[in-house]
Amino acid sequence: MSNEKIILTGDRPTGRLHVGHYVGSLRRRVELQNSGEFDKIFIMIADAQALTDNAENPEKVRQNIVEVALDYLSVGLDPAKSNIFIQSQITELTELTFYYMNLVTVARLQRNPTVKAEIKMRNFEASIPVGFMCYPISQASDITAFKATVVPVGEDQEPMIEQTREIVRKFNSVYGETLVEPDIMLPTDASCLRLPGIDGKAKMSKSLGNCIYLSEEPEEIRKKVMSMYTDPDHLKVSDPGKIEGNTVFTYLDAFCKDEHFAAFCPDYNNLSEMKDHYKRGGLGDVKVKKFLNEVLQSTLEPIRNKRHEFEKDIPYVYEVLRKGTEAAKEVAAETLHEVKDAMKINYFDDAALIAEQSEKYKA
Ligand code: ATP
Ligand code: MG
Repeated sequence: MSNEKIILTGDRPTGRLHVGHYVGSLRRRVELQNSGEFDKIFIMIADAQALTDNAENPEKVRQNIVEVALDYLSVGLDPAKSNIFIQSQITELTELTFYYMNLVTVARLQRNPTVKAEIKMRNFEASIPVGFMCYPISQASDITAFKATVVPVGEDQEPMIEQTREIVRKFNSVYGETLVEPDIMLPTDASCLRLPGIDGKAKMSKSLGNCIYLSEEPEEIRKKVMSMYTDPDHLKVSDPGKIEGNTVFTYLDAFCKDEHFAAFCPDYNNLSEMKDHYKRGGLGDVKVKKFLNEVLQSTLEPIRNKRHEFEKDIPYVYEVLRKGTEAAKEVAAETLHEVKDAMKINYFDDAALIAEQSEKYKA
C-alpha cells in the first residue's frame, strides 16, 4: 500500500457553518492544507448524510450546499489545494455503503453514543429512519473511498472513526488487504473539541439554533455574545466567579490570543491573568463579554468580507464544486473497483471465473 498522506473530512449542508466548526475543524483544515504535508485533501459536503434526517426537507439541504461552499472558501480552503465535492454525486459511495452494511451488526450501530444522542435530539426514539441509523456506515465509505489516512474532526465524530476502523479491519480480514485504516485528528485545545452553544447547554449545532455563524453580521455577534451564559452565581461584580462551565471563558479559550489583550483589554497580559481576576472577584461579566465580542469581531470580520467577495460570483462556486466532484469521483471509482475485485464480484473482468465455469460443464 502507498505511503500517501490523505485527508478526508466534511460537513453536512444543514445550515451555514458556525464558530464551532471553525475551532473544531475548519481552522485546522486550512493549516493542514497550507502545511504542504499532505498529498491529497478531500473536503466533502455531506448532502446524502444530511438527507438521512432531513428526508422531508430536501430543499433545506439543496439551499445549504452553496452556503457551506461559501463558508469553505471564505475561511481559506483553496480549491487548488483541497478537493471540494458533493457527496450524493458520487454514486460509488452508496455502493460501498451497501457492501459495508454486511460487516456491521444492528447492535453495534445501536451502541454508537453520538447517534444515540442525535436520535434523542431529533425525537427519533419511536421510529428511527434506517438511513439515519446507518449513516456511520456511509461515513466509513466516504473515508475509505479516498483511502484517507487522517480525518480532522470534532470530538462528536470519534465513534464514527472507530466504526470506520472496525469496518476496515473486518473487510481486510475477510477479503484481503484492501482498505486503509484512518486516524482521527482532534483539536489540540480541549475547549475546541466540542464548543458549546451560546446557551451553554449542548454542543453548538446547526440543528439546535444555538450558533454564532461565521457569516454573522457584527451587531448579531454582539447581541449573541452579550446574551451568553456565564456563571449563574456571579451576581455582583465583587463576587468570586467560576470558570468551569462558563461559556464565555470556554469561547475565550477557543479564540483568544495574547495579542487580543494588547489590542482590546490591556489590563491583562493574557487569559490566565483575566481568569485569576474573575475567580478572585472584582471582574464583571459585561467586561469579559465585551472583550470576547472584540475577539470574535476581529476573527470573523476578514472571513465575512471574503465571503461577500465570493457571493458576487455564485456560478464560480458551483464550478469549483463540479470540478472537485469529478476529480473525487475518479478516485472513488478506483477504490470501488478494488473493493469489488477483493470481493470477487467483478464478474465480467474475471477470466478465471469464466474458464472455471466452462471447465465444469465440459466434463
Ligand atoms: P448538524 O446539527 O446538522 O449535525 P453540526 O453543527 O453538528 O450540524 P456537522 O456538519 O455535523 O455540524 O459537523 C461538521 C464538523 O464540525 C464535524 O467534524 C464536527 O465534529 C465539527 N463540529 C460540529 N459542531 C462542533 C462544535 N460545536 N465544536 C467542535 N466541533 C464541531
Ligand atoms: Mg452534526
